[in-house]
Amino acid sequence: MSEMSYMAPERLEDALAAKAEHGAHARVVAGATDLILRMRDGVLRPDLLIDLRRLALDAIELDGDALRLGAYATHGQLLADPLVAAHLPALRQACSEFAGPPIRNRGTLGGNLVNASPAADLVPPLLAYDACVILDSADGRRELPLAAFFTGPGQTVLRPDEILTEVRLPLPPAGTGAEFIKLGQRRSMAISVVSVAARLSLGAAGEVQVARIALGAVAPTVVRAAAAEEALQGHAPDAGRLRAAAGLAGGAATPISDPRASREYRARMVPVLVRRALEAAWSASREAAAHG
Ligand SMILES: Cc1cc2nc3c(=O)[nH]c(=O)nc-3n(C[C@H](O)[C@H](O)[C@H](O)COP(=O)(O)OP(=O)(O)OC[C@H]3O[C@@H](n4cnc5c(N)ncnc54)[C@H](O)[C@@H]3O)c2cc1C
Repeated sequence: MSEMSYMAPERLEDALAAKAEHGAHARVVAGATDLILRMRDGVLRPDLLIDLRRLALDAIELDGDALRLGAYATHGQLLADPLVAAHLPALRQACSEFAGPPIRNRGTLGGNLVNASPAADLVPPLLAYDACVILDSADGRRELPLAAFFTGPGQTVLRPDEILTEVRLPLPPAGTGAEFIKLGQRRSMAISVVSVAARLSLGAAGEVQVARIALGAVAPTVVRAAAAEEALQGHAPDAGRLRAAAGLAGGAATPISDPRASREYRARMVPVLVRRALEAAWSASREAAAHG
C-alpha cells in the first residue's frame, strides 16, 4: 500500500497546482465528515489530501447585488450569519435542521455540494435562490449555475484539477418569501427522506414574478419542478393555485425505495410538502412585499 501525503497550503495557487499535478489522486479535505467515511469504506483511496483550512475560503459577504458564500463556510457559520438570516431564510432553515451541532460545526457548504448526494440538504434552497458555483483551477475560473453542476448521485461536472471555491447568489428581490421543509425518519440527525425548498418573489400587483421549487431525495439529483413553477408564474396565487402547482410537482419526482422510505411514500409526500412549502413562502412573500 502506498503512503498517503497531506498538505494544508496557505495559498489557493498552491492547492490548485497540487490539484493540477495529481488530479483525481488528490482529494480536497474540508470538514471531512463525508470524506472520512468514504476512505474508511475504501471507496476513495487518495494519494494526497489537500486541506482547505488555511485558505480563508469561509467568507460570507455582500458584493453589490450578490451574496458570496465561501465554500469552506460551515453549516454552523451559515446558521449564525446575519446576511443569511436576512436574505436566505430557506438556506438558514436547512442549516438549522442539518445533523447535530458537531457535524454542523465541521461540515462545509462546498463539501455538501461536491459530495452530490440527492439528499444533500443545502442544495434545494440554493437551487431555489438561483445559486451559481465558482470552480477554480490552475487554468482559470469558471462559473456555472448550480443546476448544471450535478450529473447523478455522487457525480458532478467538477474536473479533477478543480476546487469549488465559492457559491454566488443574486440578492433575492423585495417581495420574496421562501421555505425549506425536510422530512426525515427523526426530527434531528436524520438524512432527508424528502426535502422541498420553495421560493416566490411577488410583483407590485401580488403576481408571482419568480417561482422556484426544488425537490431533494426523490430523483438521482436534486431537481426543479419546472411544470409547477410555470403554473404559478405570472399569476396571483390563491390556495387552489398553490394546491394545483403542488400536484404538478409530483411529476418531477422519480423516487426509489431504500431503507429509509419506499418509493410510494416518497411520491405521496412530494405534493403534500410542496403545498406546505408554497403556502409558507407565499405568506412570507406577502409580508415581505408589505414591508418592502
Ligand atoms: C452523522 C452525520 C450526519 C449528517 N447529516 C447530514 C444532513 O442532515 N444533511 C446533509 O445534507 N448531509 C449530512 N451529512 C453529510 C455531510 O456532513 C455533509 O455533506 C457535509 O456538508 C460535507 O461537508 P464536509 O466539509 O465535511 O466535506 P468533506 O467530507 O471534507 O468532503 C466531501 C467531498 O467533497 C470534496 N470537497 C469538499 N470540499 C470541496 C471543495 N471546496 N472543492 C472540491 N471538492 C471538495 C471532498 O474531496 C470529498 O470528496 C451527515 C454526515 C454525518 C457523518
